[in-house]
Amino acid sequence: MQLRIGNGYDIHRLVPGRPLILGGVTLEHPAGLGLDGHSDADVLVHALMDALLGALSLGDIGRHFPPEDARWKGADSLELLEKVMGLVRDAGWSVVNVDSVVVAERPKLKPHIAPMRAGIAARMGLSPEQVGVKATTNEGLGPTGREEGIACHAVVLLQRP
Ligand code: MG
Repeated sequence: MQLRIGNGYDIHRLVPGRPLILGGVTLEHPAGLGLDGHSDADVLVHALMDALLGALSLGDIGRHFPPEDARWKGADSLELLEKVMGLVRDAGWSVVNVDSVVVAERPKLKPHIAPMRAGIAARMGLSPEQVGVKATTNEGLGPTGREEGIACHAVVLLQRP
């Protein structure tokens, strides 16, 4: 059996007047902020896609879904994740598991973790047990600590017979 590991990272700015979508779930930010970006700016799903593409040595999401391409304006990142999963399956790989950590001061993500895992798992053709989603604050430090943005780190493990 062959194994491949992939690593992904993303950060988007927190701004007024935008929705806050994380892991496909729309959240309320206490200060009314949301994530800025060309697509829906779902940093969690973006980090997962980059980890999958990294495991396949297929570059990054900027290469597959360029921000200057109008097709991806306002794109639902879970739909892009389905496209990336198509590339994984086309190359004969299956996902062993994924894990992620969202770095955000607010809102509290704990009540939303289960629906995020379920939604991501459904789009990836996995069970929720294969999808790790964790959350941490940055203890007030740096750009995420100052609530200038929300970041996410992700890893994936792929296997092929
Ligand atoms: Mg992004």
